[in-house]
Amino acid sequence: MVSLIVLEGADLIDGTGKLVKDARVLVDGSKIAGAGPSGEVKVPAGKHLTVDLSEMMILPGLIDLHAHLHGQADPTTQDSLINETDAYQAVLLAENAHRTIEAGFTTIKDMGAPNDVNIDLSRAVNDGVLKGPRIIPVATVDMTGAPGGYDVHGTRGGEASGPIETRRAARMKIAMGAEVVQVKATGAGYGKFGPKVLILSVEEMKAAVEETHKLGKRTTAHACGSEGIKNAVISGVQCIEHGQWLYEDDELIEMVVEKRVGWVPTLMNNYIKLKIMNEATKKGEKSGLPRYVEERVQYMVEPHRKSFEKAMKAGVLVGMGTDVGAPYTPNGMNAYEMEMFVKYGATPMQAIEAATRVNSQILRMEDKFGTIERGKEADLIVVKKNPLRDIRVLQEKHNIALVMKGGETLVDRLGIMGSHSGLM
Ligand SMILES: [Zn+2]
Repeated sequence: MVSLIVLEGADLIDGTGKLVKDARVLVDGSKIAGAGPSGEVKVPAGKHLTVDLSEMMILPGLIDLHAHLHGQADPTTQDSLINETDAYQAVLLAENAHRTIEAGFTTIKDMGAPNDVNIDLSRAVNDGVLKGPRIIPVATVDMTGAPGGYDVHGTRGGEASGPIETRRAARMKIAMGAEVVQVKATGAGYGKFGPKVLILSVEEMKAAVEETHKLGKRTTAHACGSEGIKNAVISGVQCIEHGQWLYEDDELIEMVVEKRVGWVPTLMNNYIKLKIMNEATKKGEKSGLPRYVEERVQYMVEPHRKSFEKAMKAGVLVGMGTDVGAPYTPNGMNAYEMEMFVKYGATPMQAIEAATRVNSQILRMEDKFGTIERGKEADLIVVKKNPLRDIRVLQEKHNIALVMKGGETLVDRLGIMGSHSGLM
């Protein structure tokens, strides 16, 4: 087996905002050894495998910053899985990891699973036991009593009251293997408390955040209402999940920009739910969603759009995350969120940058992956149609010809890699 692979003739979207026509990308082992116009990137002497990719496009491996591998997308069984055994849940997560890599996503931030099974799954991928995306596991610190019977974020053991307990909960979660600690600033669309209700206090979040950063890990906050978002930003979190009502507070938007806090809006989730609800009403049918969720969804979609427009204009680091696994949005349909970006005014290039470079910046992992540049992990996808013309081509699996993660070919629909393929 040769270690150097030369990808030849494709147009390259490298994640930095550039489009390179007739590019050459060198993959040496697990790393990118060169990328750029074919006239400028020299092929070193020695044995190598040349792969002709003319008429196709190369993109960085896609990143989803808000996935629930644990979620089964069923409106009625959101919390029934909590009573399943960890072993059974792990199998479900593994199946969804497979769907994710098939869709061209080479890295996901997994928002949690009961008993933190997502941490085990992340380990299984890192150890080479499971072929799947790189999984950055999140564990959540929540208010005592807040989750009720509903524990999709895997908060068991993460419930806390007061700063001493939130600090302790963050330590425990990190000791178990969490790479990101999520603090709950507000309630949610699904859940006992609505999306504007404040959950953890600034003091409680500050303690968890400070401890997490001290231990070299990352933080994010589940925050929907603007007051909760502000509390989270004051507490020092690196990222905001959802943030529907961000648009309400201009001073807050300035703070988010200034502190380089990432914002992962997860636009598609409620948008799709509302669409299904409207279609059901038209036909005189039921959406299948619980009544209280229907009510919340009604007033969450429009603020989200307003916030997105304002944040993009203001220069917020807007990341691409989907909430896949939630009702009606199964794992594998991750690229739909990029269509939402374009629907709400971003260019296809901006949507691709969000799902690649920007997401790696929000993860503080931009030195490792997110762009196709020399020295980075060889995470890339080869696409048959041009997503700059129509971003929706990324949602059709047959257009994703090849998926490579860390130099290993995990999907090869055209058989272009021959014996180099790791999985096929
Ligand atoms: Zn979520």
